[in-house]
Amino acid sequence: MDLEKYRANYEQIQKLQQTKNLDFYAYPAKYYCHPFRIVGNLYYIGDQKVCSHLVDTGDGLLVFDSGFPCTTHLMIQAIWELGFNPKDVKCIIHSHEHFDHIGSACEFRQLFGTQLLISEEGARVMKERPEWVYMEASEGKHSPIFTPDKTLRDGERFTLGNTTVECVHTPGHSPGVMSFFFQAQDGDKRWNVGYFGGAGFNTLYKEALKADGRPLEAREQFLQSLAKVRDRQVDIVLGNHPRQNETLDKRRRMLEDPSVNPFIDSQEWQRFCDTMSEQFRQFMENGN
Ligand SMILES: [Zn+2]
Repeated sequence: MDLEKYRANYEQIQKLQQTKNLDFYAYPAKYYCHPFRIVGNLYYIGDQKVCSHLVDTGDGLLVFDSGFPCTTHLMIQAIWELGFNPKDVKCIIHSHEHFDHIGSACEFRQLFGTQLLISEEGARVMKERPEWVYMEASEGKHSPIFTPDKTLRDGERFTLGNTTVECVHTPGHSPGVMSFFFQAQDGDKRWNVGYFGGAGFNTLYKEALKADGRPLEAREQFLQSLAKVRDRQVDIVLGNHPRQNETLDKRRRMLEDPSVNPFIDSQEWQRFCDTMSEQFRQFMENGN
């Protein structure tokens, strides 16, 4: 394919995504997902398009990612529906600096005094390259960009209550992507949880990188990031978007047969990293 075809292909994909997203931006409540317990003190509070997770640390609530700018009300409703109070959300840790993962951050801080955390690199992008947050794609009426209360470094451990989160910088999808590892508490049991912070190829088309003014090396970085965390011992994989780890299908299976928890699978993390790497290599071989 020549450059024009790359561009046409990329524009076609973008157009398709925009059409699908218009209904969501106009009627986000149609995409509400009833929140549920994954295991012990770990809950799903995202919608049908993007994931957010909540951990009850015994000393306040810890949330991973704050969704789209247009879905703050859905996240607040999900927290109430679980029987928690949104004012107890002490911290939101963000996986990366894109508008669909940081959308409710400012409102949570304004309403509940929530502390906002993101990687150093993510904070730098929001400050110096706000166009890489893709606000124009959000249809939101307000900017989701924030100045964090705390930035996270590669390898840093962050503790709230009974939960210590290991933060690992895994750039590629965006410069600031972080992946997180912690233990969920389920009575006497401890489950190792892994959250890969940004797995979409959409920002890694040659044309997309060129248009954004990001280096092509981001593609190699993405593969290196998957390799960096691949050998972790993980019992429960959290999704960044529900389709990436079949969150909603697992929930359906959970309801059909409550005796088996499909979220617990000690092979899934390696499978996820390997599949992503293979698919990404294929993506590049196909000329994208
Ligand atoms: Zn993203």
